[in-house]
Amino acid sequence: MTKFSDLDLDPRVLKAVAEAGYEIPTPIQAQAIPEALKGRDVLGIAQTGTGKTAGFVLPMVTMLGQGRARARMPRSLVLCPTRELAAQVAENFDTYAKYTKLTKALLIGGVSFKDQDKIIDRGVDVLIATPGRLLDHFERGKLMLTGVQIMVVDEADRMLDMGFIPDIERIFKLTPFTRQTLFFSATMAKEIERITNEFLTNPARIEVARRATAAETIAQNVVMLEPSRRDRSFAEKRALLRALIDHEGEGLTNGIIFCNRKVDVDAVAKSLKKHGYDAAPIHGDLEQSVRTRTLDAFRAGELKLLIASDVAARGLDVPSVSHVFNFDVPSHSEDYVHRIGRTGRAGREGRALTICTPADAKNLAAVEDLIAREIPRLDIGFSPAQVAADDEAPRQRPQGGRQGSTRRPAPERPAREKPAASPAPETTPESGPEAAQPAASEPAAPQRGTRSGSSGRSSRDQGRGEGSRDQSRGEARVIGMGDHVPDFLMRSFPGSSAG
Ligand code: AMP
Repeated sequence: MTKFSDLDLDPRVLKAVAEAGYEIPTPIQAQAIPEALKGRDVLGIAQTGTGKTAGFVLPMVTMLGQGRARARMPRSLVLCPTRELAAQVAENFDTYAKYTKLTKALLIGGVSFKDQDKIIDRGVDVLIATPGRLLDHFERGKLMLTGVQIMVVDEADRMLDMGFIPDIERIFKLTPFTRQTLFFSATMAKEIERITNEFLTNPARIEVARRATAAETIAQNVVMLEPSRRDRSFAEKRALLRALIDHEGEGLTNGIIFCNRKVDVDAVAKSLKKHGYDAAPIHGDLEQSVRTRTLDAFRAGELKLLIASDVAARGLDVPSVSHVFNFDVPSHSEDYVHRIGRTGRAGREGRALTICTPADAKNLAAVEDLIAREIPRLDIGFSPAQVAADDEAPRQRPQGGRQGSTRRPAPERPAREKPAASPAPETTPESGPEAAQPAASEPAAPQRGTRSGSSGRSSRDQGRGEGSRDQSRGEARVIGMGDHVPDFLMRSFPGSSAG
């Protein structure tokens, strides 16, 4: 078996790798590193979790070990589709280049141009960037790409999904054609094939097994949900999600909940928080500082549930996620593999639970086609009609037991007591533009859990707000659309923005 020490890596890199605790290269590393060190272009067909980041970082650090950077002319360039992924690649550089004098800069949105300019002016060996931000700097005349010797394109298929391919082509053309290119993509869509044919020269094509076949440690289930009414679908899915979280009990140490739509990411996060779960959203519309804070908290184990869009979660390296929930079946079947790949990493056991409504049936069939097996159905005895009744009939939620593990330690402040648009202190991660939106048809939190009945509500709150009820008459009196916001009002439109 190949060891890192068998590869022709700089001793300083080997030392850093050993300190990181790695001895045996993963298959993509074992194959890509020798080719890259020969100066060849590499086309790596591999997804996140395979160790592909070190697969390009280690040879780059080795090859850049000699020579010095010139002002405004980076010697190498790594393009990533999202800020988080770029930040993760930067962390890898910090780890593996720590015994060298190489310098790096991270060009991502949400960081001031001035600070970034200063670093570039000094000259950097490695520039890690998202394509848009890189071009912004280039257009401001602050950056020259003619000194780029090595260019990496990471997660090219995601770049394609996000509409970055024209930017990538442009960046390719701004770099010298003699550069070495290391290009990674989980899949080879036609458009990706086209640009690799155009911009890579006789690449070493390295394909590693899909995680779908490798991830035997992930126990997967689908929970079918037939909503009692079409306009209750979203509310019932949220209730089912809570039931699933509770059902998983102590085994759920932390989890990522994926939604197909950004607007749902916020609504689901808000809903979970309202019900006392320790949850926060992450998606492309949130401020970078908020995203970073949320992710750091999740990584540190201070946040249990991360609600995410595919784009925001793509490539995130969170080593020990016990659970992945798919609030929706992804519309791109490959995303299913990426999503569940967040759990069961590096041989750990993982659990993936997917909610499927009749509207998702087609997507589920595509997923099962892709992974070439049927995902076992799980029946947790969830009844949408019962939930609808529960949500409308306020009662004390049982405390303690298995539910406790995912709940916040302190009781939530009832949402009804705060003005709709002013975020409470603990809701900082939601302070993005979507945060002020009401969570659609959310049943009122104070009616369950720590508060019972209406005694805890101020008179101002009586009889108004979302779906308020006249309990004295024992019947629901709904104002406005209440619990019945039609699904289409909650839908985001394709291409409105990424994330
Ligand atoms: P990546 O696919 O680059 O996102 O890497 C996924 C995870 O694998 C990261 O947590 C890496 O730290 C880890 N990793 C990278 N190389 C190795 C290796 N040779 N052995 C074990 N784990 C590794």
